[in-house]
Amino acid sequence: MTNNFDGTLNFNTIAQHGGQEFDGETNARAVPIYQTTSYGFESPEQAASLFQMQEAGYIYSRNANPTNRVLEKRIAELEGGIDAFAVSSGQSAITIALLTLAKVGDEIVATNELYGGTYNLFSETFKRFGVTVRFVEGTNFSEISASINENTKAVFTETIGNPGLQIADIKALSSIAHEHGIPLVVDSTFTTPYLQKPISFGADIVIHSTTKFIGGHGTSIGGIIVDSGKFNWDNGNFPEFTTPKSSLNNQSYVELKNDNAFISKARFELGHDIGTALSPFNGWLFIQGLESLPLRMKQHVLNTKQIAAYLAEHEQVTWVNYPGLSENHQYELAKTYLPKGTGAILTFGIEGGHEAAKSFIQSLKLLSHVANIGDSKTLVIHPASTTHARLSPEEQKRTGVTPDQIRISVGLEDVEDIKYDIHQALKKSRG
Ligand SMILES: *Cc1c(COP(=O)(O)O)cnc(C)c1O
Repeated sequence: MTNNFDGTLNFNTIAQHGGQEFDGETNARAVPIYQTTSYGFESPEQAASLFQMQEAGYIYSRNANPTNRVLEKRIAELEGGIDAFAVSSGQSAITIALLTLAKVGDEIVATNELYGGTYNLFSETFKRFGVTVRFVEGTNFSEISASINENTKAVFTETIGNPGLQIADIKALSSIAHEHGIPLVVDSTFTTPYLQKPISFGADIVIHSTTKFIGGHGTSIGGIIVDSGKFNWDNGNFPEFTTPKSSLNNQSYVELKNDNAFISKARFELGHDIGTALSPFNGWLFIQGLESLPLRMKQHVLNTKQIAAYLAEHEQVTWVNYPGLSENHQYELAKTYLPKGTGAILTFGIEGGHEAAKSFIQSLKLLSHVANIGDSKTLVIHPASTTHARLSPEEQKRTGVTPDQIRISVGLEDVEDIKYDIHQALKKSRG
């Protein structure tokens, strides 16, 4: 942490204050919940000007809402981006970000190891929309480069792949994308801006499922899209950004004076047309989550390291995957990309394979068997039969899912209590 007394704020401070200005009426200290659908216009001329994006202001909460605006500005600031668009889920954030770039006939190149829902979105739903996603091995840079053609509009990866925990080499991936004149889009849900700022390594667009660590308490579904402001949309590959539109007073998105082409297009086209608005109450809960994010992430990492070390020593455990363990094959890469810790997700296998894994999960008393991560409570799941069950055995192998694999999202309980529950459940799984 530095303080140059030049007014630039550090991370923990931004997590408390970013994006908020006191409203002129009450000077409320906490961010108010603006539970409203619509906002009064000052005149017919002002209404028209707002609709044509000639001035900033609120129209309707499907597009923008003052509570959610604080969340958007705060996360953009934490990530080192210029702006953000908060939406109703992580899935809608991925959909809107990528379909703002790609239309029917276009392609996207995505790394193999992905959240199950994202894999299905790409392989089934995007296909129905006429957008082809080519899946590539995230460390095979020549294959990635070769998979990009004149129709490709983005490269997509997760900062830490799910559930194989592959750490994305964002510098390498962004160089490849930029050589081809397309942006790198990164799902940073597993890391949060506390553990990594993908933009600092060259990512252009960052996405979060705020449902997870940002909310932090397993209460609300939400997502966000952050724009780095660094990608040049005027490079010939994105005519939808540079063609004047009558709806924008005959300007193009890159010509808007808010200098915010990507988020404007995402917000006023797909966000507006499809309607993936975030409830202001959920937005407010995510703001509460951000305020404790630095403290929680620190403790998540501490607990996870200890659970990983405990499992690695356990006689019934056949393997443990946590990039923060010194014996892990990604330990060196983690030093570059995740110096503050490699997150709170680990996977492991136990003697007896799938059957023993089922019995282990059934025998847990404290750890919760749920399809979520990033809660303050420790969560456990068997990916092959649940989150990644729609994948064929070959697809599972490709995305880092194995039949004996158990995934834990380590929470904030006393670590000795988490260990005890694992101990007693492993004992029972011996059968
Ligand atoms: C949960 C998750 C998503 C989807 O987010 P939702 O908020 O559940 O729609 C996307 N990516 C990753 C890595 C996730 O963990």
